Amino acid sequence: MHAGRSPNMSYPTKIAPSRRSLLLFAVSASCLRLANIVDAKEAKAPPKPDNLLSPDAALKRLMEGNDRYVQGTSRGDDFKRERQVLVDGQNPYAAVLSCADSRVAPELVFGSGLGDLFVCRLAGNFVNDDTLASVEYAVAVLNTPLILVLGHDHCGAIDTTVKSLHHDKPPPGHISSLVAALAPAVTASRQQTGDTFANATRQNVVDNVNKLKSAGPILNAAVEQNRLKIVGGLYRLDTGRVDLLS
Ligand SMILES: [Zn+2]
Repeated sequence: MHAGRSPNMSYPTKIAPSRRSLLLFAVSASCLRLANIVDAKEAKAPPKPDNLLSPDAALKRLMEGNDRYVQGTSRGDDFKRERQVLVDGQNPYAAVLSCADSRVAPELVFGSGLGDLFVCRLAGNFVNDDTLASVEYAVAVLNTPLILVLGHDHCGAIDTTVKSLHHDKPPPGHISSLVAALAPAVTASRQQTGDTFANATRQNVVDNVNKLKSAGPILNAAVEQNRLKIVGGLYRLDTGRVDLLS
């Protein structure tokens, strides 16, 4: 049964390095092809060249879009063409962290088309691990030069938090997680003069802008290198105007 093969012959050990080499070569070649594909994808021209803006120019464009929205001007988008342009990539010129409120629609508020805004929405427009990860992706991978934290008046999440803290009674279900996130801003607003609700709404935006600015390792470095601007704003339900916070 061992005919033609001496006990000292070691086909497996002679053949094995060869197979390993072939396998390593195949894996290396595959990795190289994959790397080339990724490089080629990253190196190719962005789908929306007009979106390659400095942080200040991005903010200017955002607010000009809001002006058009306030005036009620329609962009007349050619969505069929825009969809095709954006199939293989995106380079939004701004990221917006806004409330989930149905009356606050960032793409409409800023007169933007497909591929222009990277929008994260959740009730109360605050930073948690998930929203932070999302905006980090926009900045680190998509090179987005601007982040806007957008609060708004008559916010239900703020209202719920104010009432919950006032009555010392948690809301039902998972809504309590919103209250926990917004409580610091509401508590701080009690020390301020003027309308508590408006102050809390503003404070929440300010707090989350600061949170993003100091978030390492991606956002704080981008701000430091002037590749990124992070600002806060308040959307006015009646006029549609966004007031930037200084
Ligand atoms: Zn809201």
